[in-house]
Amino acid sequence: MIDGQVLVLNKSWVAVNVASVRRALTLLYQGAARAVHPTDYSLYDFDNWCELSALREEGRYLHTATMPIRVPEVILLSTFNGFFRQEVRFSRRNIFERDKNQCQYCGKTFAKPDLTLDHVVPRSKGGRDTWENLVLACMKCNVYKANRTPHQADMPLLKKPVKPQWLPRLGRRLPASEMGSWQRFVDAAYWDVELKS
Ligand SMILES: [Zn+2]
Repeated sequence: MIDGQVLVLNKSWVAVNVASVRRALTLLYQGAARAVHPTDYSLYDFDNWCELSALREEGRYLHTATMPIRVPEVILLSTFNGFFRQEVRFSRRNIFERDKNQCQYCGKTFAKPDLTLDHVVPRSKGGRDTWENLVLACMKCNVYKANRTPHQADMPLLKKPVKPQWLPRLGRRLPASEMGSWQRFVDAAYWDVELKS
């Protein structure tokens, strides 16, 4: 069986899972999902997908006994419409994951209880709860920095905090090879969820 993973979208085109190629083709064959064409986003049921596969457009193919089947990059579930909103709100956890339990000021790694979320620009100076303004800091750095910006405290950040390029909802990083075609499908609104303080 071919290696690789297939992005699974729910009926509302929200990414909800990653499936093996085998699982994705099974869902397609059973009619539980349709394949999404990677360039024009048109939808294909199994029969139509087989016809498309016969055209041998550029892509990856699984060579079965009877014919080559194109490996879909993305499939759209026909019925399931879960959204997993609860997980989306676990942004604190996701910041820990992004910063890998590493204090973004001194660079040391700590156990989770010894880290806190630090506002790069303090709230008192208008700093907000965003991916770009929250970083992990150890207690010592957090206390020392206090109510100052990194510049004022002369505590440069290890790296510029940004929105991570993975799907915390899926709990794993996107494989680099799939990034281009998958990223387009990721619900943009998801990344803008702000932490509730
Ligand atoms: Zn530190």
